[in-house]
Amino acid sequence: MCSALADLIAAEIRAGGPMDVGRYMALCLGHPEYGYYMTRDPLGVAGDFTTAPEISQMFGEMIGGWLADAWDRAGHPSPFVLLECGPGRGTLMADALRAVRGVPGFVEAAQLHLLETSPVLRESQARALAEYDPVWHDGLDTVPGDVPLFVVANEFLDALPVRQLVRRGDGWAERCVALENDSLRFVEMEANSDVCGYIAPELFVPEEGAVVEVAPERERFLGCLYKTLLQQGGVALFCDYGYGCPGYGDTVQAVRGHGYASVLEAPGEADLTAHVNFSDVSRLALEAGLTVHGSTGQGDFLRRLGIDIRVRRLMERATEAQSAEIETALERLCGDRQMGRLFKVMAVCSDPSVELVGFA
Ligand code: SAH
Repeated sequence: MCSALADLIAAEIRAGGPMDVGRYMALCLGHPEYGYYMTRDPLGVAGDFTTAPEISQMFGEMIGGWLADAWDRAGHPSPFVLLECGPGRGTLMADALRAVRGVPGFVEAAQLHLLETSPVLRESQARALAEYDPVWHDGLDTVPGDVPLFVVANEFLDALPVRQLVRRGDGWAERCVALENDSLRFVEMEANSDVCGYIAPELFVPEEGAVVEVAPERERFLGCLYKTLLQQGGVALFCDYGYGCPGYGDTVQAVRGHGYASVLEAPGEADLTAHVNFSDVSRLALEAGLTVHGSTGQGDFLRRLGIDIRVRRLMERATEAQSAEIETALERLCGDRQMGRLFKVMAVCSDPSVELVGFA
C-alpha cells in the first residue's frame, strides 16, 4: 500500500483513530485530488467496469422514451429541469435525447443539468452533450429549484458512501478502517447512537456478528432531492445494483480491471460501491409525501418499455455480426443471470395520479 491517498488515509487514522467505512469510501472515490473518480475515466473495456449505457445505445434510448412519456403524463411542463446524477461519459443522456427528438416540445423545454464531481468525466460529458448546453453542479443545492424536475440516476446511488454496523450482544459495533504495521485493516469500534439511528425501523433483530449497512450520505442526498421534487413537481428514476427488501450483509466491494479487488489494498485505484437498499429509497420518498413505483428488475423494466421491439428494428438494418452484438447486449441488460434481476429500477413521483410505465 503506497500512494499519496494511502499516505493521507494513514495520517488521518494516526491522528484521529480508526475511520468509519463511509469516510474511507468518500476519500477513495471523491478526494478532490486523488479520489478514484477525480483522476480517471473508469468506464468501458479499457477501464474497470462497464455500465448499462456503455453496453448498448438501447439502454439510453429506453430511458429517453420513459422520461418523455413521464413528462407528457405530468402535463408536459415547459420549461423543466432535466437532471442526470453521475452521468459518466454522457452516453445515457446523449442516447436518450437523440431517441426522443421526435417528441414535440420535449427537447426544447428541457434545461439540461448534470450533477458530476469528476473533472475527467465532465470533459467527456461536454463532448457528448455539447449541443444541449448542459450546466454542471457539484451538489443539488445549486440545481434550479423553480421549475419541475425530471431526474435520472444510473449507478449513482451505489457510489455514495455507506457505514457498516455489526451486531454485538444486544447492541451494535461499527466496522472501521485501522492501521496495523502500516497496512489497513478492518476493526470494530463502539458505535455511536447517531449512526445507529439510521438502522431501518423494520429490520428484524439480527444474529450475532451480522453486518447492517446504513447510508447517511444517501439519505441526505435523497432528502434534498425529494424536497425539491415535492415543491416543484416531477419524477426521479433510479437504476442500481441493489436489493428491494430490507436485509443485511456486507455489500461494499472493490472492482478493478473488470474483476473484484480488495477493498483496502489500493485506496483510490479501484471503484468502490455498495448495493442500494431500495426499501430505504422508497421509505424516505413515502415519508416525504411522494409516490413510489417499483422497485422492479431492470430486465422486466426494459421489456415493459419495449426493448424487444427496438431490438427487432435495429436488426432489420444490421449485418450478421451486428445482430449477434445486439443479441448479446440484450442478454447482458435483461438476462436473469446478468443485469436483469440484480439491477433494480425505482421511480418516485410528486403526483399520485400520474401513471408511469415500466412497473407492474
Ligand atoms: N451513470 C453513468 C456512470 C456511473 S459511475 C453510467 O451509467 O455509465 C458513477 C458516476 O457518478 C460517475 O460519473 C461519477 O463521477 C459520479 N459520482 C460519483 N460520486 C459522486 C458524487 N458524490 N457527486 C457527484 N457525482 C458523483
